[in-house]
Amino acid sequence: MASILPERHQPELPLERLVLSEAPDKEAIEMDVLFVGAGPAGLAGAIELAQLVKKAQAAGDTMADLNIGVLEKAGSLGEHNLSGAVVNPRAFRELFPDLIDADFPFRQPVPGEAVYLLTAGGSLRLPTPPTMHNAGFYTASISEMVRWLGEKAEGLGINIFPGFPADALLVEGKQVKGVRTTAGGLERSGEPGGNYMPPTDLTARVTVLSEGTRGTLGQAWRQWQGVTSENPQIFALGVKEVWKTKQPLEKVIHTLGWPLPTDAFGGSFLYPLGPDMVALGLVVGLDYHEASLDVHELLQRLKLHPLFRPHLEGGELLEWGAKTIPEGGYYALPQRRVGDGLILVGDTAGFVDVPSLKGIHYAMQSGMYAARTIFEALKRDEVSAGALSGYDKRIDDSYIVADMKRTRNMRLAFKDGFFAGGFKAGLMTITGGRLFGGRITMPADAAVPKQTGPAAPFTPDGTLTVSKVDAVFKSGNATRDTIPTHLIVGKDVSGEVADFYSHVCPAGVYERVGDELRVNAPNCIDCKATDVLGPRWTPREGGSGPKYRSM
Ligand SMILES: Cc1cc2nc3c(=O)[nH]c(=O)nc-3n(C[C@H](O)[C@H](O)[C@H](O)COP(=O)(O)OP(=O)(O)OC[C@H]3O[C@@H](n4cnc5c(N)ncnc54)[C@H](O)[C@@H]3O)c2cc1C
Ligand code: SF4
Repeated sequence: MASILPERHQPELPLERLVLSEAPDKEAIEMDVLFVGAGPAGLAGAIELAQLVKKAQAAGDTMADLNIGVLEKAGSLGEHNLSGAVVNPRAFRELFPDLIDADFPFRQPVPGEAVYLLTAGGSLRLPTPPTMHNAGFYTASISEMVRWLGEKAEGLGINIFPGFPADALLVEGKQVKGVRTTAGGLERSGEPGGNYMPPTDLTARVTVLSEGTRGTLGQAWRQWQGVTSENPQIFALGVKEVWKTKQPLEKVIHTLGWPLPTDAFGGSFLYPLGPDMVALGLVVGLDYHEASLDVHELLQRLKLHPLFRPHLEGGELLEWGAKTIPEGGYYALPQRRVGDGLILVGDTAGFVDVPSLKGIHYAMQSGMYAARTIFEALKRDEVSAGALSGYDKRIDDSYIVADMKRTRNMRLAFKDGFFAGGFKAGLMTITGGRLFGGRITMPADAAVPKQTGPAAPFTPDGTLTVSKVDAVFKSGNATRDTIPTHLIVGKDVSGEVADFYSHVCPAGVYERVGDELRVNAPNCIDCKATDVLGPRWTPREGGSGPKYRSM
């Protein structure tokens, strides 16, 4: 059978654009600490840092206020964040010791849970594996959590800049000095248009990359500095919908098996978000083997299954979105997460525990560890990699790494297929990760060949199931049509490769027209799936992309 090797068609990361050895503009905005990305990691980090300064001042320390900035590419906070989500509240509790759980922006406690193995027409309830126990946790919308954290941050005097994507790192030697933002108002040709907004430089003594999954500046910094990991980072794509329902969902549901082929890793989730709302999603590892696999379409099929249909029928699709998840786990963590004037936090560093599908509390906690390290380093007036190395130690000694180490091979075991992987993962759980404890090596997702073949036809009904065009509408994406493309397509893209990209992208950005690839760049919702398997994603005009409200 013919196959496509994705990495053959993938362009290099444009390092010359992403790492600029240039003096910052004379008009640069000066910050002490700059967080790139207002997700849970960046906002928790900024809040912790501002609180540390206030506490020190209250205790009589003469230190001046710090200028703390948070850049965010979305037009408003929360619009580019997407998660499940079942949240472990421990990082919220540590960040806000004076608040109680009821004060946090959660939707409801987890009311009960069930795990099912699906076949095309049936379901078998399985005992809940220990890694998937969620008692004591809460369901939540990450967009709402981010908006709430943003208000707390503003209340502490932190400068939040929504609509300002960081386009490049500004460096001097190995020292990161800040960032340059992306220009706005460019015409499709790349020329300035009527609403042109030139890039802005922001300098900082420490820049924290909290860009989330498949962070572009994080990738560039690691490549530039030669920071590797034992295994390459691998990713999954999650496609998610929020539904208004007629009746409440009484438990958190996870499923394995159908509609995924047995040689793909993944599963679905259905979470209650209050009395009349649910979050539904399907997550699939991008090391799958069939070029025609289409996660958006698999989610549409899933909704027709007898386990899901009754929950959704008669309801209304409110929102749709997609995002990748770093799934490489412990062995894919960067050797170091600090550089001169730079720290990596959250998904950018890969702090996700895949068997429990958790990243939010790790992201927040890593932001808080970064803040504590920066606070100490600034007091010593030293921001070299050595001065910031306390962050790596804090992470290595923390529950983040302990949790990820315990489950280090569970995801990786599934490269041999669902049944062998499930068997091995079960034994790993029983032995606390000791059995099959040696590193399972993994290729990068783009190095896994995809077998070509016809896609199974699927026609959405427009009510329960939706096309990609309708889905993008439900993401709130209203990016102007005249924006220049931010996607870099590689070489030798045949009709078959174009077909493959059209299936990878949940938002219908890529289309095969004859034997050519057509790119509808404004449709992009920044999920980064093709950055992993095909054309490169780069930052574009602030405020472009989705406008999630309750993802
Ligand atoms: C489908 C799915 C289900 C999940 N379910 C759960 C769950 O149930 N529980 C759980 O704990 N975790 C879950 N996760 C994982 C969790 O969502 C992430 O681990 C978490 O959001 C990471 O937080 P972060 O702050 O690192 O990144 P993000 O939340 O992604 O935030 C990064 C921010 O940076 C911004 N940004 C990116 N690039 C730039 C740039 N160049 N300039 C400016 N801003 C930029 C982005 O717009 C975004 O706002 C799930 C993830 C997915 C995709
Ligand atoms: S083009 Fe955009 S929406 Fe499509 S896969 Fe790539 S990042 Fe996701």
